[in-house]
Amino acid sequence: MPEVLARLSGKQFVQGRFIAGEGGQLAVRNPARDEVIGHIAVATPAEIASTVAAALAAWRPWASQPARVRAEALHALGRLIETDAAAMAQVMTLEQGKPFNEALGEIRKLAEACHFYAEEAVRVHGEIIPNDQPGYQSLILREAIGVVAAITPWNYPAELVGWKLCAALAAGCPIIIKPSEFTPFTALMIAEKTQQAGIPAGVVSVLNGDGASVGQALVDHPDIPKIAFTGSSRTGLRIQQSCPAIKRLSLELGGNCPLLVTRHADLPQAVQGAVRRSFRNMGQICIAINRIYVERTVYADFLDQFAAATRKLIIGDGLLNPAADLGAMAQVAPLQKTRQHLQDALDKGARLVTGGAAPEGEAFGKGLFFQPSIVADCTHEMLVMREETFGPLVGVAPFDRLDDAIALANDTPYGLAAYAYTQNLQEIHRCAAELDVGNVAINHVDAGIMNAPYGGRKQSGVGVEHGREGLLEYFQFKHVRLRHGVGA
Ligand code: NAD
Repeated sequence: MPEVLARLSGKQFVQGRFIAGEGGQLAVRNPARDEVIGHIAVATPAEIASTVAAALAAWRPWASQPARVRAEALHALGRLIETDAAAMAQVMTLEQGKPFNEALGEIRKLAEACHFYAEEAVRVHGEIIPNDQPGYQSLILREAIGVVAAITPWNYPAELVGWKLCAALAAGCPIIIKPSEFTPFTALMIAEKTQQAGIPAGVVSVLNGDGASVGQALVDHPDIPKIAFTGSSRTGLRIQQSCPAIKRLSLELGGNCPLLVTRHADLPQAVQGAVRRSFRNMGQICIAINRIYVERTVYADFLDQFAAATRKLIIGDGLLNPAADLGAMAQVAPLQKTRQHLQDALDKGARLVTGGAAPEGEAFGKGLFFQPSIVADCTHEMLVMREETFGPLVGVAPFDRLDDAIALANDTPYGLAAYAYTQNLQEIHRCAAELDVGNVAINHVDAGIMNAPYGGRKQSGVGVEHGREGLLEYFQFKHVRLRHGVGA
């Protein structure tokens, strides 16, 4: 077991240093082997209170630094993360289950986010608005919002912490991170890098623990004006409903994302995209393809090619087989939900095309493994077509008219991402205009990039991350109306 896990086990990162948490302990397991790799201490009310107080004290000094200073700290953080990327990826694979190479890619993207927001930090400016009366001027200022609580899930333990951390640091907000109780060590390693980057004590903290006690205590705290949350729609709604005061909320929530494939699609490309976005990270991606609608004339061909490509995916223990396509699932709950959605679809008449069970062999005996699975001839009576599975299962259905496919794609409480493959210009424009989601990807499946805003609609959330817009979520406006008298 890496030395870093022994060092960080049971620790909180508060006031710029690691302390041994005094609360009750929770085990952290490697889902590929069902082995305990360490533990976290659940932050106590006293630890939470002192952490928030330290963050509040750090706020104005950090926010009043020249943006250039905050940018340099972010660049330094990015460089430190790049340098230690392999060790960080190993820890992520141990706690999350994704193959090492994929974890390494995620760490490198976190480093990119540091550099991106370092560059954005120095380009935040206000406006001067002309007034109707001479002698007046309106200045529009942007001010850092204050202490932010970042509450994050386990599927992308580095990036989902990083997007919030980088934007908050760039804006001048202290941030208290409550990572998922299943993947705390990646967050603690990021905290260690902020310390090495010289970011002042109190500006970044990590408090571990479960959501109901530690997460909720941060939501409830009167000195935290903004909650940046990524997680399930159910928890997001709970946070919104339980907020005891008016707070700024950004809620990046669940999805049940559709892919549309028309007869005008480049079929091999559509198949490649379907495989990647249905099964990467074992389907544990908010923007995973959960359901696919294929025009009837190419339905059988698509299914044959999709099944053949899916069967070629290599599953393995992500440390022993770093280049595997798929690792273990991160947790028991999504594995159970995958089985439930599969059984529900089969009971309601779906046809199993491939997968449907755990892979066989000793290597898979203890871990949370499941074969990537496709069910065909699905209807909207089936859970897989209406609810987020968050596992390696996708439902496929034929359609006759694009109108019907778009209506079905929109027939869900979610509005996160949608995908379409077609080379027909009219179809492209219709999909772009009529799919009721925050992110549409056409003829590829990589819906999010660092430079453009990313967020959901409907029950998929409010607010955005990424891009300039993601940074502006950490500011509030101030209008200063000045009577200088010149020209009056
Ligand atoms: P979850 O909602 O169970 O937990 C997310 C975080 O919230 C964890 O840190 C948890 O401890 C905390 N939490 C739980 N109850 C809380 C409460 N009452 N108050 C405050 N915090 C609380 O989600 P999960 O199972 O960890 O993650 C999977 C979900 O995340 C999926 O639904 C997925 O779609 C979603 N997700 C969304 C995005 C996005 O960008 N939209 C990205 C990744 C994951």
